[in-house]
Amino acid sequence: MKIIIGNWKMNSPSKYQAELIQKLQKNNTKNKIVLCVPFTSLSRKKTSVVHFGAQNVSQFTGGAFTGEISAKMIKETGAEYVIIGHSERRLYYKETLKQIRQKVENALNVNLIPIICIGETETEKANNETLKVIEKNLSVCVPITNKPIIIAYEPRWAIGTGKTPTKIEIKSVHEFIYKFFKTNHRPIPQIIYGGSITGQNAKQIASIKYVDGLLVGAASLKTETFLPIIEQVK
Ligand code: PEP
Repeated sequence: MKIIIGNWKMNSPSKYQAELIQKLQKNNTKNKIVLCVPFTSLSRKKTSVVHFGAQNVSQFTGGAFTGEISAKMIKETGAEYVIIGHSERRLYYKETLKQIRQKVENALNVNLIPIICIGETETEKANNETLKVIEKNLSVCVPITNKPIIIAYEPRWAIGTGKTPTKIEIKSVHEFIYKFFKTNHRPIPQIIYGGSITGQNAKQIASIKYVDGLLVGAASLKTETFLPIIEQVK
């Protein structure tokens, strides 16, 4: 079974949401489906097929932090997951590795499963720094824990661009992440890939060794683009 996570970003497809969830219920996929929706849509109850997550969490646990949402508040909606350290948060909100680590700890403390996004920029890739970036992020942002966590390898240059790494590149980064945990005698997390997944490339990418699932942005926003991805991944 693979995990397929949709990241709806700041879109509020309310009509689509109901339709998609209905179709997913009927679709007897063996994959686990998680929809990471805006905070305002988090109150939906999970179903046997569809689970819910948030897209961000505060680095603080509560108090005078106007506009922030804590891990406990997310947990209280019934959500089970939270995306942390997404490339858009790093780019537009200048999230640091230290803040990301704090967010991950806050999520784990209330038993939310963090989906920790890590990946290199285009420049870092050009400078052959991909594995260095991945290792730094794993070392700083991911605490030692027996609780479930998900690592999403999301090359930052591949998000929303229509560009994807080669099969060999994806395998080598996922294998590197796998070995990071293995050689440190730590529980192996689920390691998923994200970045310009479509119905055309989902099957091939999901079948790469060490790829346990997919994180899907734009294509998760419409039934006709998300369902083919779910159906093709075995
Ligand atoms: C994302 O935002 O996590 C993502 C993978 O986006 P897209 O699929 O649109 O590249």
